[in-house]
Amino acid sequence: LPGATTPGGSRQATLGVLGGGQLGRMFVHAAQALGYRCVVLDPDAISPAGAVAEQHVRADYLDSFGLAQLARDCDAITTEFENVPAVALETLAGMRTVAPAAAAVAVCQDRAVEKAHFEAAGAQSGVYPAPHAVITNDIELAAVDPALLPGILKTSRMGYDGKGQVRVNTQAELAAAWDGLKRVPCVLEQLLPLKRELSVLLARGADGQIVSYPVQQNLHRGGILAVTQVPAPDVPVAVQQQAVAAARQVAEALAYVGVLCIEFFWLADGRLVVNEMAPRPHNSGHWTMNGCNASQFELQVRALAGLPLPELRQHSPSVMLNLLGDLWFSADGGPTPPPWDRVLALPGTHLHLYGKAEARHGRKMGHLNITADTAEAARDVARQAAAILG
Ligand code: ADP
Ligand code: MG
Repeated sequence: LPGATTPGGSRQATLGVLGGGQLGRMFVHAAQALGYRCVVLDPDAISPAGAVAEQHVRADYLDSFGLAQLARDCDAITTEFENVPAVALETLAGMRTVAPAAAAVAVCQDRAVEKAHFEAAGAQSGVYPAPHAVITNDIELAAVDPALLPGILKTSRMGYDGKGQVRVNTQAELAAAWDGLKRVPCVLEQLLPLKRELSVLLARGADGQIVSYPVQQNLHRGGILAVTQVPAPDVPVAVQQQAVAAARQVAEALAYVGVLCIEFFWLADGRLVVNEMAPRPHNSGHWTMNGCNASQFELQVRALAGLPLPELRQHSPSVMLNLLGDLWFSADGGPTPPPWDRVLALPGTHLHLYGKAEARHGRKMGHLNITADTAEAARDVARQAAAILG
């Protein structure tokens, strides 16, 4: 339990995180607010989460000494990124409470397995993944249904922010693209006419209780999330309800524990398609830090620690702008911090920076949440902030 300091003051309840990125950092902040100590395991000497945790175990995710130290010092352990080796979670699960479970994370790590899970859940929810084919050898490559072209070839593992993806129009381009991806296992997806991109963020407790946030409408630029708006301005309520029901179905079917985010495509013809999921707090849920009674990071802490999940209430229409490293470079290419004084002078702006020393193009440096009394007012301030940031 939080703040469970023993009478001698010798030990306080402690939560562990695999991974030291910004998601880990915001998890640590939420855990500390609830009275927990935190230990972060990350191989890098300097990391956004390691810098704010009480303890940083600097070790590889497969280092048995590092994992043993984490297990020794923590009561419960989570992960902040989905590509943590599943065997690391399994090892820890033998010693401590771990959420989400290795088996659920393993499904999210492999697009082919993930899509099979979505197909199965679709029988209940009626929401299916994009038409696709798994490509692991020349026979499967040759057998690809031409109806899947034009399509997007995606590596089954380790893809994120649009990395490991190639658009292909013909069989010849497909073969060349697969060579270019070093012939690793891939999924070819039909290129769909997207009207909007959505995500549903939920948390499920060990007791099976699920709480979910309102549907999030996301805009990507160059494969990276740029803007999230909640409520989703363009999406009919019936479609939103369908997305939430489908997301809950997926979480149930995984017996999932923790925060889970599921991405959807809303197509030009009105259909809803499930795209992918992340077994952790998600960039598209950062608005919850200022627009809701409880943030996604607090939910992750509560789910991990076995605390009750709160009934969720969005108190303010919200817009989130991602702040990429590009904003730190002026027109002449020199690094300069953005004019935060002007941004923060706008009403309802909440700045979150991740403590990364070096700005790089495409690197996630922080995000700006904008809250207002109406969605239109939030959008208006977001436009002004974007104009100032350039
Ligand atoms: P990542 O793991 O990189 O986020 P996604 O599968 O979410 O991979 O793809 C990144 C982006 O590419 C999506 O947000 C969407 O904009 C676009 N995209 C992905 N798959 C399709 C598809 N089948 N049809 C059209 N656009 C797609
Ligand atoms: Mg995605």
